[in-house]
Amino acid sequence: MITKFLGRVFSGRIFKTLQPKIIPFGAHGVARTRVSSCALKTTQTLQQHNFVAFIVGGAVRDLLLGREPKDFDIATDATPEEVRRVFRRSRIIGRRFRLVHVLCGSETVEVSTFRGSHSADDAEAGGADEHGRILRDNVFGSQQQDATRRDFTINALFYDPASQEIWDYHGGVADLKKRRLRMIGDPEQRYREDPVRMLRAVRFAAGCGLEIEPKTRKPIRALAQLLQNVPPSRLFDEMLKLLLSGHAAGCVAKLRKERLHHGLLPLLDVILEQPLGERFVMLALKNTDERIRAGKSVSPAFLFSSLLWHEVLAAWKSMEAKGVSAIPALYQAMEQVGQVQAEKLAIPRRYGTDMKEIWALQPRLLQRSGRRPYRLLEHPRFRASYDFLLLRCQSGEVDVEIGEWWTRFQDADEQTRQQMLVQETAPGKGRRRRRRRKPNAKPNDTE
Ligand code: ATP
Ligand code: MG
Repeated sequence: MITKFLGRVFSGRIFKTLQPKIIPFGAHGVARTRVSSCALKTTQTLQQHNFVAFIVGGAVRDLLLGREPKDFDIATDATPEEVRRVFRRSRIIGRRFRLVHVLCGSETVEVSTFRGSHSADDAEAGGADEHGRILRDNVFGSQQQDATRRDFTINALFYDPASQEIWDYHGGVADLKKRRLRMIGDPEQRYREDPVRMLRAVRFAAGCGLEIEPKTRKPIRALAQLLQNVPPSRLFDEMLKLLLSGHAAGCVAKLRKERLHHGLLPLLDVILEQPLGERFVMLALKNTDERIRAGKSVSPAFLFSSLLWHEVLAAWKSMEAKGVSAIPALYQAMEQVGQVQAEKLAIPRRYGTDMKEIWALQPRLLQRSGRRPYRLLEHPRFRASYDFLLLRCQSGEVDVEIGEWWTRFQDADEQTRQQMLVQETAPGKGRRRRRRRKPNAKPNDTE
């Protein structure tokens, strides 16, 4: 152990990073006015209580990139209990990795105590699995250690709103200027500790327009299969961040380039390995990106229903080929895809209901006669299923005219709507069909 320690001292791993580079406002230009009032108040209050407090991580990176941060995380030397005591409106969350949520009005900021970094010693002590993946990550440490345990240099910057200084232990500001994504420490070891960092590398590179530095990039191909040891729910969370980053299309292209797409992430296999659906999936991703960049909301259920649509279509067709009639065949197809999705893709069940509704409304959108279009307009999922129909039109799967019809119908006055209704080609056909239906038939049809 002592030899290891001395080894690290002499290789410069300990001494080299002890002192941060303190970058003044004049050199970076990030004014405290760009920090949310809650984050500002929280750092001020902690500092008044003689604790160290900085804004840290993604928010500092985004401020330097001239973007508005999604949220503000704060790092401090106060323990969770001490933070809890300082703020009346706060609560401790998380069992393994304890954090404090501080509330101001409707805003919440996350305050975490500086964590220690991990080393081979921890791995030997049972804190890692046989591939080096870290299982424990909850030891408090110094600010310098907290910087070092973070993933990329650009994510390890500390901003003090009081002095408007950035404390930079790993050259993150320079990397950002050079548009370079660089792992802190030995990239191979860091990917082994947490293989999800490979996905994060792709997400930040595509999302922030950065090049992955060669040393950081090199081990990815060989280590890609380690993603299989990561719990599916964690992978799902990271994939969701990637898909909702506003740069999903670019991220997916980059994942392919880094060979992180095949057989590693079932959700990604679905996205990339459906020749017929590729156009549709890429359109859905671009559409999601545009919505996010325009500040509009995006529903994960909508996104997943589009990513899986061509799976549903294929299953639907094969049911029909077996002689099942159209609507029951669609329901069986949805059921089948839904099951695979829950088992393999780890898409949480809570999204399942909305996804099925979006799919089930698709045949109804093709019916444009009688009272049916009016009833559909009242449906709580009308908007999502209409947006979905537009994607189908754009991808060439459905006649563009149908999408345009709905666009006009929604806003038309009653007289125009009446004129727009499509006349039933065989009068009375609808009634006859309804009479034929058994009383206990599934009410899943068109009504
Ligand atoms: P985003 O804007 O997408 O939220 P972020 O950088 O804030 O990006 P988070 O996942 O919210 O990313 O994580 C917050 C910070 O925690 C990161 O900036 C990084 O410093 C650290 N971090 C997160 N995940 C890891 C990881 N797997 N390994 C090391 N550090 C991490
Ligand atoms: Mg974040």
